[in-house]
Amino acid sequence: MIPFNVPPFVGTEIKYMNEVVDNRKICGDGPFTKKCNEWLEKRFNAKKVMLTTSGSSALDMAAFMCDLKQGDEVILPSFTFSSTANSFVLAGATLVFVDIRPDTMNIDETKIEAAITEHTKVIVPVHYAGVACEMDTIMDIAKRHKLMVVEDAAQAVMSTYKGKALGTIGDFGCYSFHETKNYSMGEGGAILINNEKYIERAEILREKGTNRSQFFRGQVAKYNWVDFGDSYLQSDLNAAYLWAQLEVADEINNDRLKTWNTYHDAFLTLVERGLIELPTIPDECVHNAHMFYIKCKDLDERTKFINKTKELDIGCVFHYIPLHSAPAGIKFGRFDGRDIYTTSESDRLVRLPMYYKLSNKDLKFIIDSITAYFS
Ligand SMILES: *Cc1c(COP(=O)(O)O)cnc(C)c1O
Repeated sequence: MIPFNVPPFVGTEIKYMNEVVDNRKICGDGPFTKKCNEWLEKRFNAKKVMLTTSGSSALDMAAFMCDLKQGDEVILPSFTFSSTANSFVLAGATLVFVDIRPDTMNIDETKIEAAITEHTKVIVPVHYAGVACEMDTIMDIAKRHKLMVVEDAAQAVMSTYKGKALGTIGDFGCYSFHETKNYSMGEGGAILINNEKYIERAEILREKGTNRSQFFRGQVAKYNWVDFGDSYLQSDLNAAYLWAQLEVADEINNDRLKTWNTYHDAFLTLVERGLIELPTIPDECVHNAHMFYIKCKDLDERTKFINKTKELDIGCVFHYIPLHSAPAGIKFGRFDGRDIYTTSESDRLVRLPMYYKLSNKDLKFIIDSITAYFS
């Protein structure tokens, strides 16, 4: 069986976790959390990065900092994970879904402006498969309409748009280090705060509504409950696990890109024969090979294809059921404009096995089997 995903593991995770245990410093914001935060800040040129318990909780923090009230609207794609939407529902907003572009499966930047009303407060671009949304256009719309931008960059660690790291372009960026992502700590994530004025609020929000972070830095004499908050600090044990992988981040990234490029080149003949379609990477985007997907002709063909890969013991899976058609999506939001691509394109998409250290032998078997199937 060739699995769809194998969580990354580089070998030094256990050594670092042992250090945490030996030092009896397993709570949040320990030495490894600090190392990870600083690494992420330097590498991605981010103002402030804080590890969190998940990508979802990073999104929660971002949504709370947008200071939304009942009736405020948030624009997002419907083709995304529930977490993108949940955070803004928790923060009290109404969801406004906009169609995606078929080439990248990202929000269609040309349809955002039509969805803006007097209640709109935030735009949430989701960088699907680690490929950037059209950020210059989105930031320009946000600026003209005075909206905040929260990047769901859960899949986009190491990806860039015009040289800028994804997650560092909007007001906030959210990364995930779930075991299905390129770098993992089991469950975990990070919030990137790109607008300095929110750093203090983020610390308070993450530390149960207290100014404990300022207290630890000696800025206040005692700490107090100053605003609403929650606990978004992960254990330093998880950070130690992640640190092992950040140390070799380029090796992991290059390995994944090699697999991605091998898939891509091998399937070009199927594309030329009109049998499948492949993802598009716009010129201004450098991606992180988070995902490799193909598109079949339609839902029927996809179902047949997935059944075949099951027979072959190759782990291929489809992705999101569009949120606007899900029970919670209907309850908390509406679709603006026409759903031209969201449903029809998501019906055709299949993800192929993609993980760090996918062997050449397995890769060849997958490519040969799929090529034979479509031929
Ligand atoms: C994985 C993912 C999340 C959630 O991250 P968790 O760490 O699992 O909470 C949110 N948005 C997108 C687009 C994701 O892929």
